[in-house]
Amino acid sequence: MSSHTSPARKIPVAILGATGAVGQTFVRLLDGHPWFEVTAVAASERSAGKSYRDATHWLSGEMPERASRLEVTMCDPALLDAPIVFSALDSDAAGEVEAAFARAGRMVLSNARNYRMDADIPLLIPEVNPDHLDLLAVQREVRGWSGAIVTNSNCSTMVVALALAPLHQAFGVQQLFVTTLQALSGAGYPGVPSLDILGNIIPFIGGGEEEKIESEPLKILGTFEHGAITPAPMIVSAQVNRVAVEHGHTVCMSVKLATRVTPEIAISALQSWKGAVASLGLPSAPAYPVVVTMEHDRPQPRRDVNAGGGMSVVIGRVRTDPLLDLRLVAMGHNTVRGAAGASILNAELLVARGLVAR
Ligand code: NAP
Repeated sequence: MSSHTSPARKIPVAILGATGAVGQTFVRLLDGHPWFEVTAVAASERSAGKSYRDATHWLSGEMPERASRLEVTMCDPALLDAPIVFSALDSDAAGEVEAAFARAGRMVLSNARNYRMDADIPLLIPEVNPDHLDLLAVQREVRGWSGAIVTNSNCSTMVVALALAPLHQAFGVQQLFVTTLQALSGAGYPGVPSLDILGNIIPFIGGGEEEKIESEPLKILGTFEHGAITPAPMIVSAQVNRVAVEHGHTVCMSVKLATRVTPEIAISALQSWKGAVASLGLPSAPAYPVVVTMEHDRPQPRRDVNAGGGMSVVIGRVRTDPLLDLRLVAMGHNTVRGAAGASILNAELLVARGLVAR
């Protein structure tokens, strides 16, 4: 970590929706974080008043001791004074609650879909579009908030956008045909009933999943000019499937490029790409946001989901496509890179840029 970006003392952070699948991933990833300290956990009235240990059906490994003793509160800015607020709220609750925290001067890092596509809200991936943070000035002017909302993408979009960014920057992506195989943890807890998914594939995911994958990458890869984002001029066609995998969304992609290149040249562009914030020393940034595997049967969720601490998207099977130009398979951790880890990385960039009031 470079010393110029490292805060002298840890910054208190709160987690909204801390009891859910993504909320738990926040608690796990923030345990021992060098810059941030979880001082508050909040959820619905079903959980409020209980200890975090009692309120949470903990899903993976040991619950961090410190968090386990915190009392879960309601999601009310009057009860929580942390300047950084990570939101893992269900979208039914996120709209009003996140706005209330931003109005109260907090920096809200949201996983919910509610604000992602609003013109004045950054849909941020630090390695791809850190300049979109300049939208915060527009947001404050439009909404009159002293705080702000910064969003991260849908979990499959994250895999798509990170795989596309190096190709788009080097060769221009014009069309994308994508089929997803999405893990069960993407549906939250308890998620899909076991008898519906065991030995099965469900070719539908609610909440507008296909529409998100078809729209969010255009904003993420869009250009920020004169206070607004012009979407990247590409067409995306998405089909989604829920599969009996625990963690890791796999995405099979066919891509049409403005400049047609061989698989070898595409692989070289993917392998050498480090993204826009490699020099900042952000603690959650992987050395390589995109990792290319040359093994013929990879990536696989079971073997590759924790690449780069769960923050790298693994790409394999890069080859010529007889319909468009290139095809490949990309896979990333949906609750880490696709949710909590992405929000934490976004918050680290905000701190490094001096955008968090302390
Ligand atoms: P989840 O397991 O169902 O958890 C939902 C959380 O929201 C729980 O903490 C729940 O608290 C809280 N909540 C629900 N209604 C509330 C209310 N009215 N007021 C306050 N808190 C409320 O869902 P998840 O999978 O963690 O997803 C959380 C968010 O992240 C969603 O917006 C989802 O779309 C998004 N997301 C998820 C993933 C993923 O891979 N899972 C990836 C990207 C984005 P209680 O326990 O008290 O009910």
